[in-house]
Amino acid sequence: MGNNIRNIQCLTLSEMNDKLNNKELAEYIFNFNSKNKISSAPETTVIAYVMSYFKPLSFKRIAGTNVIINGTHGNYIVSFQLQEKIYNSLSKRTLSSDLTLKLCDSTTTDIIAKIGIEYDGHSEHVTSYGIVEDKRKDLSVLKQTGMVRLRIQPEMFQTNEEKKDVYRAVKKYFEQYIKLIPREKRSVKSGRTYIECPLCEGVQILGSQSCPVCLGDGSVKKNVYIGLDIEVFDTFDCPDCTKRTIKNCRKCRGTSFLNRNEAINIRREELKRL
Ligand SMILES: [Zn+2]
Ligand SMILES: [Zn+2]
Repeated sequence: MGNNIRNIQCLTLSEMNDKLNNKELAEYIFNFNSKNKISSAPETTVIAYVMSYFKPLSFKRIAGTNVIINGTHGNYIVSFQLQEKIYNSLSKRTLSSDLTLKLCDSTTTDIIAKIGIEYDGHSEHVTSYGIVEDKRKDLSVLKQTGMVRLRIQPEMFQTNEEKKDVYRAVKKYFEQYIKLIPREKRSVKSGRTYIECPLCEGVQILGSQSCPVCLGDGSVKKNVYIGLDIEVFDTFDCPDCTKRTIKNCRKCRGTSFLNRNEAINIRREELKRL
């Protein structure tokens, strides 16, 4: 290992349970193995972190070793798959993808977008041979399935902000596809089943971004968001400091981040002026 940090701090089972707020799912992820090969603790830790941003999460065992893991993103479902098998036409072998996230329509369950996440903890990934091999695999997966894969190196997954950046990137990726859905299809709502968004309290924009829970709608499906853990979303990018931190910024006091209350209040003030 030497001086470079090719490692991350791993979650214990109880920490994973706290993160996911779902005991069965936490146990499943914590003990996850494929082909009798136990997944590394760093890998399951990364998977748990990514999933934690899509709470509430549901876990269901179906036939054999198959499971259904679903999360929530605005009024959409995010379906998670561990070790999805993809045929590699170049090597004529099957390769597995660490984590696949599928953004689905909550009524039709049609897939809107799909992205893969790979945790590259093993040192083979940073040898020149390994780097080329990874790129080859990514090319093959994209060619075969249309799915891009985001590769996470341990050095990129140290601080809380770095962990959240992975989520921010996935969210941004999903947003591009959501924007392609015609407006009228995006917001078919009846007053009874929708409530004001518990995170942004209806103000729609927090900091410089649309609210990560309602995706800027200001309202969410009532049944889905019972038990939402708003603590997960604790910092928001300052709208005035998105490119660089301004020392005397009055909104964020030079930190470039706002907490939830600050973000809501700033947006409320802004709405008054509109
Ligand atoms: Zn919201
Ligand atoms: Zn600022």
